[in-house]
Amino acid sequence: MPTSTLDQAYDPEEFRKLGHLLIDQLADHLEENIKMNVKTMPWSPPEDMYSKVSSDLWMQETDLTDFVLRHSIRLHNPGYIGHQISPTLPIAALASLTSALLNNGGAVFEMGMTATSLERKLIELYADRIGYDIPTSTGFLTSGGTLANLTAMLAARRNKGHKDVWISGGQHTKMAVMVSEQAHYCIDRAARIMGLGEKGIIKIPVTKQFSVDNEAIGPLYDKAISEGYEVIAIVGSACSTSTGSYDDLEYMSSFAAEKNLWFHVDGAHGGAVIFSEKYKPLVKGIATADSVVIDCHKMMMSPSIITALVYKNEGTAYHNFSPEAEYLFDSVEAREWYNLGKRTFECTKEMMSLKVYTIIHHYGTEILTEYVDTLYDKAKSFSEILKDDDSFELACEPMANIVCFRFLQPNDQNVNNQLQLSIRKALLEEGTYYIVQTKLNGRIYLRCTVMNPFTTADQFMDLLAKIKTIASSLYGSR
Ligand SMILES: *Cc1c(COP(=O)(O)O)cnc(C)c1O
Repeated sequence: MPTSTLDQAYDPEEFRKLGHLLIDQLADHLEENIKMNVKTMPWSPPEDMYSKVSSDLWMQETDLTDFVLRHSIRLHNPGYIGHQISPTLPIAALASLTSALLNNGGAVFEMGMTATSLERKLIELYADRIGYDIPTSTGFLTSGGTLANLTAMLAARRNKGHKDVWISGGQHTKMAVMVSEQAHYCIDRAARIMGLGEKGIIKIPVTKQFSVDNEAIGPLYDKAISEGYEVIAIVGSACSTSTGSYDDLEYMSSFAAEKNLWFHVDGAHGGAVIFSEKYKPLVKGIATADSVVIDCHKMMMSPSIITALVYKNEGTAYHNFSPEAEYLFDSVEAREWYNLGKRTFECTKEMMSLKVYTIIHHYGTEILTEYVDTLYDKAKSFSEILKDDDSFELACEPMANIVCFRFLQPNDQNVNNQLQLSIRKALLEEGTYYIVQTKLNGRIYLRCTVMNPFTTADQFMDLLAKIKTIASSLYGSR
């Protein structure tokens, strides 16, 4: 009997069959990566890739999953040492499937009872590791570090601003936030979205280690005040994106306390050290922050994008988006932890908590400790290898799992930026390793983030050998 397309598409047996096939394909893909006999990056330039999709995939009988797998960068390949996205823990990918099927991710409790309650448990875990008092702190999971940082900056303004811009609009206000010149660009963007403008972002210069220069904070603050700005917040990077440098959170915290500023910690990348006894000292002082952001898709092996935003005082979180008069929100009834939409930017969201919790449920928080420690340790050993080789120069000592370095041509210390760019491009096209690049003090550096716990010292050495070969062929062909 002919059935409708809808009948067929919702048929559980069809799902079962396709699901088993899919899992087999994905498991084979994971296996190939471990064997390292496939390239990390099957590079196609944008126009070529678009043509392939147009001719080989779009409305063709092509196996869609096979096509996607063949033409995607492989984060599970140990040759992946590029941007700071986790090779997803396979079990968390399975949780994503459950989330996608159930679609229980509501702003209101009824639409996501389990996910909402799990989210509260997870936030309590974060709060505990940060050093907050659990009963008075709060938080939620949200769609990425960028949105989480914007949400925290909005909370800073709502809770510290002299004028309630949420009600009155931003006309005739001169507010500013202070942040490292090495901070992720999303802080700058958040400030501009809030209407603070270019002058509303006070960029603090950094030391040789690319951490905020504490000495510079006071004078910059005084200057802003003398120019009529109301400084509402100071943001610490834990760590910075380019070089993985941690700011001195203790110093920033005491400065914030002295001037009555909101103290926010952008721990999108490196906040996960709260799960590591060994590396936790890097975020000394974090417990005094008014808000902390930690990405789960970076150092916690979760699928993208899931970010925790944790507040020291729950009142500030509820106050952030409350349209009604202040007195309403001091009432206990209004602080409904179970209706997440009161505090989140999003209305609908995914069942994010399920994905993060699945990891902890299966492997305990120990796996997070092991992941952070392994990656940070490996970056240190990689930097030792670089130090032992005269052909390379480190940008700074790695504090996290991010290593920036440049190739030095023998007898020519004045190596140009173009050479680093050409090396990077050649590596991209060759595909065995995937690394990225960054600019520091006007100089281009090659940049590696050790994200895969299975990348070995031999592979670091092989990468450096490849770079030398590429460099000499580039020089030779001049
Ligand atoms: C990655 C990163 C962000 C942005 O987070 P997304 O999840 O990519 O939006 C913000 N701050 C820092 C320090 C980061 O490393």
